[in-house]
Amino acid sequence: RNQAGVMPRQGAEQLMTPNRQDEVVLQINKLQQQRERRRELYNRERLLREQQMNEDPGNPNWEIARMIRLHRQEMSNAQKKTKTAAKEPPKEHQIIVCVRKRPLNQKELADKKELDVVSIHSRDHLVVHEPRKHVNLVKFLENHSFRFDYAFNENCSNAFVYEFTARPLIRHIFDGGMATCFAYGQTGSGKTHTMGGKFTGRNQQNSLDGIYAMATRDVFSLVESPAYVSLNLRVFCSFFEIYGSRVYDLLVTGKPQLKVLEDGHQQVQVVGLTENAVKNVEDVLNLLDLGNSVRTSGQTSANSKSSRSHAVFQIVLRKSSSITERPHGKFSLIDLAGNERGADNNSVDRLTRLEGSDINKSLLVLKECIRALGRQSAHLPFRGSKLTQVLRDSFIGGKKVKTCMIAMISPGLHSVEHTLNTLRYADRVKELTVDSLIPR
Ligand code: ADP
Ligand code: MG
Repeated sequence: RNQAGVMPRQGAEQLMTPNRQDEVVLQINKLQQQRERRRELYNRERLLREQQMNEDPGNPNWEIARMIRLHRQEMSNAQKKTKTAAKEPPKEHQIIVCVRKRPLNQKELADKKELDVVSIHSRDHLVVHEPRKHVNLVKFLENHSFRFDYAFNENCSNAFVYEFTARPLIRHIFDGGMATCFAYGQTGSGKTHTMGGKFTGRNQQNSLDGIYAMATRDVFSLVESPAYVSLNLRVFCSFFEIYGSRVYDLLVTGKPQLKVLEDGHQQVQVVGLTENAVKNVEDVLNLLDLGNSVRTSGQTSANSKSSRSHAVFQIVLRKSSSITERPHGKFSLIDLAGNERGADNNSVDRLTRLEGSDINKSLLVLKECIRALGRQSAHLPFRGSKLTQVLRDSFIGGKKVKTCMIAMISPGLHSVEHTLNTLRYADRVKELTVDSLIPR
């Protein structure tokens, strides 16, 4: 024994014969194996118990729910084996297309027939589980896989979404470019939540938490930054609504209708559109409040009419306050009309049907314009709709133009058809771009 009274290690080993040593190692290995087996069994049993517990016999969708659960389990096991990539900086492409899934809401969670059918597996990959039936009536899942620049899951905040979508475009307008950011998707999927901020009441939102305000906040900080302060830029904001082929100013109480004119040089002008000078975020919040109240005034429900119009919020950078001069840069942020009406041809109301086909057309033309931009094609079909006509200067100019589309989706089983339509549309927007031809 040494001074501390501890048997020296070497001494202990000497007490054991080589045979005894092997036996101890064997025993330890055996114990470890047993422990691992027990753990695996326990995990399996727990999973089974969980599945059985959730398999509510009264729920007509329990089989589907179970198939989705197994799919997720498998994917998460597979992912654990592959290393997760390090955090990348935001992408800097000319066209960014991403998807955002909102969480199931209280009503959906309480509905036994509702089910989350969207799995986001990684930062750019998602799967939509569509329940189908074989001819022999056996249920199965058709899993539709999609890849976008980013896929934001239900836990992502507005600030996080902003970071990877609109924020990378702010510098671009300071460098003399034009930028657009579109929120696309069915009514109720989260377009207004994302652009305007979290809802705190029926028509009330926390604007600070929306992309409109976050973008202007960053614009103000860049105006003062050493890189751009010498440009002496002033910031202006407009907010208007496009309803069918009519344009309404949202910054004037009473929502006056505005004329859209195209001059001989193919410059499009929204005549009389209010452009308010803003000095700080507070000014912008006041404008947003005014615009939102003008937009929804007289409506019985938050979604009744606003879901049938496109809302356009613009941040304009100018070197002087003359609004006839071409701006230094412009950022248009658009809360698009709900895309669900394209399929809705059996509405009894003729006006609703006409509105539906009008919205449908404007969204199709928008898609073609972005695709043309991606192909760097000289022909832009912007005259096909009021929306693209008004945004014309944000589509021409080659590399001076950048755009971002956020496709919003509802996670529920009841929305699966609309969700697939939304994702297919977004897929088409991206598919022909120069970016997408570069192998990942
Ligand atoms: P849209 O403008 O596409 O019709 P909304 O933005 O009005 O949809 O959202 C519909 C409802 O869902 C609102 O009550 C909103 O608060 C809620 N919602 C949308 N997106 C989210 C989200 N990411 N997190 C929490 N709630 C959301
Ligand atoms: Mg909305």
